[in-house]
Amino acid sequence: MNKGGILVVEDESKIAAIVKAYLEKEGFRVTVANTGQKAISALKDGFDLIILDLMLPDMDGEDICRTIRADSDVPIIMLTAKVEEEERIKGLGIGADDYVVKPFSPRELVARVNALLRRSKGTKGSISFNKGDLVIDSSRFEITKNNVPLVLTPTEFKLLQCLAERPGQIFSRLQLVNVILGYDFEGYDRTIDAHIKNIRHKIEEDPRNPSYIKTVYGVGYRFIGQPDED
Ligand code: CA
Repeated sequence: MNKGGILVVEDESKIAAIVKAYLEKEGFRVTVANTGQKAISALKDGFDLIILDLMLPDMDGEDICRTIRADSDVPIIMLTAKVEEEERIKGLGIGADDYVVKPFSPRELVARVNALLRRSKGTKGSISFNKGDLVIDSSRFEITKNNVPLVLTPTEFKLLQCLAERPGQIFSRLQLVNVILGYDFEGYDRTIDAHIKNIRHKIEEDPRNPSYIKTVYGVGYRFIGQPDED
């Protein structure tokens, strides 16, 4: 079984060894780099996914992320000890696809790896939720609710797609602003509420008791639809 190659960039040898063991058990080939320089020179080998620690002895993980993104769209999961929301947002803003906060369970990391690889391969073209009730086809920009096509604005589509691709993950309003505009813009975050309200009116049976987009009070939003099995 060979599910692909993963580069683990982590200077803490214990963490690197555990992550490597778990991923290898899953059938991945794993290369560990314990410095930023080694990580960058390993890139030429080509990987299917990169797990990148933010805090490295010689380089800032964010700089490595930018370097990788300059000429590659390989999926990146950031490992961060920084729990500040602003820092997480920054990680996603500079091109990481997902982040895991330390300390993390190796099992959760493996689940995130599998989910990200499924997303990035995009072979399915569409994802469906709640037993086919809601289907999002990203390649055709189509959404159907109970087999009826819906009309969403490009902004609404982008927001829903972002939330639905990461079920369970909480997004702050500012993070969602970043999704729409590509940068943070204070003062725009309340506009997100208006967009979410519009999306709910289109996809929810009962917008006041949503089965897809849940409000996380004081923080933002979370997608709670149940992904259908393949
Ligand atoms: Ca570290």
